[in-house]
Amino acid sequence: MSPVYLDHNATSPPRPEALEVALPLITEHWGNPASTHQAARRPAAAVEVARGQVARWCGARPRDVIFTSGATEANHLALRGALGGGRLVVSAVEHPSVRAPGLALGASVAPVDADGVVDLDALDALLTPDVRLVSVMAANNETGVIQPLTAIHARVHAAGALLHVDAAQLPGRLPAPQAWDLLTLTAHKAGGLKGAGALVLRPGVALTPQQLGGPQERERRAGTVNAAPIAALGAILDLPIPGHLGALQDRLAEGLSGLGAVVTAASRARLPNTVHVRFPGIPGDSIVMGLDLTGVQVSVGAACASGAARPSHVLAAMGLPPGEGVRMSLGWNTEKGEIDRAVHATRRVLAQHEAASEVI
Ligand code: PLP
Repeated sequence: MSPVYLDHNATSPPRPEALEVALPLITEHWGNPASTHQAARRPAAAVEVARGQVARWCGARPRDVIFTSGATEANHLALRGALGGGRLVVSAVEHPSVRAPGLALGASVAPVDADGVVDLDALDALLTPDVRLVSVMAANNETGVIQPLTAIHARVHAAGALLHVDAAQLPGRLPAPQAWDLLTLTAHKAGGLKGAGALVLRPGVALTPQQLGGPQERERRAGTVNAAPIAALGAILDLPIPGHLGALQDRLAEGLSGLGAVVTAASRARLPNTVHVRFPGIPGDSIVMGLDLTGVQVSVGAACASGAARPSHVLAAMGLPPGEGVRMSLGWNTEKGEIDRAVHATRRVLAQHEAASEVI
């Protein structure tokens, strides 16, 4: 039996529509989009089509789209490039690609409530006149919790600062957010390919390039433009959001709850594809490893180093045990039977865990 893959928040399999536009740019039209001869024509045109698709998706101007290698690079470019000597605030639940450069830049950390939603009063208190940039993600990659960006944007603007939003988890799950000044995207979590992302700017947002070299991307990001995954990014943003996610999410959450799972932030707005649960007292990684042995691929949610799970700073910020999370994230090709197999396998893993605990 083929494995059940429920880790789309880590990466998702490429969609046929992404491969259709990307493959010819690898096999046939592999020229450098910046060259001046004929070999550049097709890749350069494909990049501009994708630029238009990204701009349309998020309501921006094509000229304000800067292609990058993914969300990590876009986040670094935003934080370092738009800070302009001012102070930075990041939320306590940001992805490590915001959190690490943010802390290195001396950022203040905005706390979250027990569901992982930014505490607006605490944020207000941090918005001193020297704050230039605030970074809050659209939706959390571990828990799926959605941040109130409109309210946050209003507060950030009232304080004279700019809002950077890491929307890496939105494509293929939700429409683009509206309230942002700088927006990060990536292709590979919604059926695109690894190696492409974008930082999108609102008109007038000044950005200091961080990667110097060639004049690509209007001199805001040097380096040969990676046409194939960029074309795939544009293509996946043009596709409708899969309509089956919400029903499968409910089915999975109900199934796991029936086994004693506590669904994280169950009453809050969350991504329609993410089910984050805890089985109180049981380490998340032992469940994840047990499921893997049965062919069900899920995650503890936090970044992994050489296969070992790190305690989650997201759960810690919410006041939850940082080693107890299990994340199951669905995607465009997830089927109902796979949800049922995942629940069934979890029941077996829990039974094995209980039997092993009794022996000890
Ligand atoms: N931001 C968020 C919220 C993510 O979930 C991820 C991927 O896990 C990233 C950034 C990094 O994305 P990329 O792999 O494109 O660098």
